[in-house]
Amino acid sequence: MPGFELFGEQEKKQVQDVLDSGVLMRYGFDGMRNGHWKAKELEAALERRMKTEYVHLVSSGTAALTVALASAGVGAGDEVIMPTFTFVASFESILALGAIPILVDVDDTLTLDPKAVATAITKRTKVVMPVHMCGSMADLTALQSICKEHGLLLLEDACQAIGGSYNGKPLGSIGDLGCFSFDYVKTITCGEGGALITNTKSFYENAHKYSDHGHDHIGNDRGAEAHPFLGYNFRISELNAAVGLAQIDRLDDFLEIQKRNYTILREALSEIPGIVFRRVPEGGEENYSFLNFFLPSEEVARKTHAALGQNGVDGCFYWFDNNWHYYRRWEHLTQKKSLGKLPEDVLESLPDDSKSDFSASDRWVGRNISCLIKLSWTIEEVQQRAQRMAATIQSQL
Ligand SMILES: *Cc1c(COP(=O)(O)O)cnc(C)c1O
Repeated sequence: MPGFELFGEQEKKQVQDVLDSGVLMRYGFDGMRNGHWKAKELEAALERRMKTEYVHLVSSGTAALTVALASAGVGAGDEVIMPTFTFVASFESILALGAIPILVDVDDTLTLDPKAVATAITKRTKVVMPVHMCGSMADLTALQSICKEHGLLLLEDACQAIGGSYNGKPLGSIGDLGCFSFDYVKTITCGEGGALITNTKSFYENAHKYSDHGHDHIGNDRGAEAHPFLGYNFRISELNAAVGLAQIDRLDDFLEIQKRNYTILREALSEIPGIVFRRVPEGGEENYSFLNFFLPSEEVARKTHAALGQNGVDGCFYWFDNNWHYYRRWEHLTQKKSLGKLPEDVLESLPDDSKSDFSASDRWVGRNISCLIKLSWTIEEVQQRAQRMAATIQSQL
């Protein structure tokens, strides 16, 4: 998956433009910048690639989620539905606004189970936030219809699935808002960076203001700009945007390499009885950044994961035991361990999910192994890897 594997001349050239002008900030300094507007250019490139009206870049994927929620008016006491299997950024971005993360089961897509979402809706629910984990998507048709019925917003976290699609539309562009991360280990990288995308003008207008201290961005005297509401600083720098501008040009090449490598591995594993691949909703195409499969039991999955590591097959994850991606290890969330005092709404309403029944999630995540697809492998290396993976898995069944 990582774009850092293929970092080269294009990236250096883009960064050099910024260094030559010395304008490292995305706003202002028009006279000094030699016509270079890297953040703006990357936003325009993303608008084209994601077939979306508005794109706003920020400093990280986590910031993109926070700004997206803020731009839609989410605040204290609002409930946001999110999956048990995701990255910690999901609940961090919600809590940052004083809103309440409501964890909900995942199914065999490894993303939000629409039936579990429907049951979790209350009067306070404002947003449903599916996370397209490990390259593939949630059942967006089902989630869209739930959101429509209950008047909720759909926010797609596509940080791990950039370039994937659903019914021909880019992931991230289907919900009311979509978010991407360009951190160092994502499919394309800015070093650090993120983006939110939307077709709703008011969300975009709120987002660019909120992420820059509330600046209204009217006129060309920054100091004279008005601040229609309170904001924060989630700006991306021109240096980071420059790296992303080189990488977005390479996204489709990266996806093609991922698909080739993924397909070789998948074909080798599909011969093995006892392996079931993760379900991709009908009409969906993965971005092929991970190959995900289920083994017959938790015990076999854990053993197989260990054996893969011992046999030199690196980059395979057993998320069930992972500190960052599965609710079982989020004791800092369930025990509400914060530095300062949390808002009353959060203290009162945050469920204690160490006591919740997520056995439906456990059934899937406990049997899942996820293997990262790298860009830098040669075909020979992938073929060797495929043989070694197949033999290792077979030996554990
Ligand atoms: C990486 C990631 C994020 C956060 O992105 P950062 O740029 O690292 O802040 C959010 N959600 C998911 C699913 C991610 O994988």
